[in-house]
Parts: sequence; C-alpha cells; structure tokens
Amino acid sequence: MIKVNRNVCPHDHVCPLIRLCPVGAISQGEDGYPIIDHEKCIDCGKCVRSCPMKAVSRS
Ligand code: SF4
Repeated sequence: MIKVNRNVCPHDHVCPLIRLCPVGAISQGEDGYPIIDHEKCIDCGKCVRSCPMKAVSRS
C-alpha cells in the first residue's frame, strides 16, 4: 500500500505526483497533503520513485 509520510511532505505546493499517476489515484486535500485513492491505485510505484521529498513509500 502506498503511503504519504506527513512528517516529510511540506504540503505547501501543488503535488507534482498528481499529474504523474497513470490512473489518477492521487489528489490533494485542502490541507495540501496528497491523498492516495487505494481503490484506483495499481501499485506501480511511480509516485514512490518520483516524489522529490521522498515522502511517498510502500508499506
Ligand atoms: S503507485 Fe502508481 S497508481 Fe498508485 S498512486 Fe502511485 S503513481 Fe498512482
């Protein structure tokens, strides 16, 4: 399962992973943190590899 580490994500910018996710599983909440839709996520790992802050990981 893909998880966002809220202690690492600065949540102060438009998350670049939203456009990168091939299945549109990432959105951004009003608090600025990205939200992973686990129903849509195919666990491809693109967001894990691409987050510049390394705030996204598999668990
Ligand atoms: S693992 Fe792939 S499908 Fe799942 S949220 Fe990340 S980019 Fe999207």
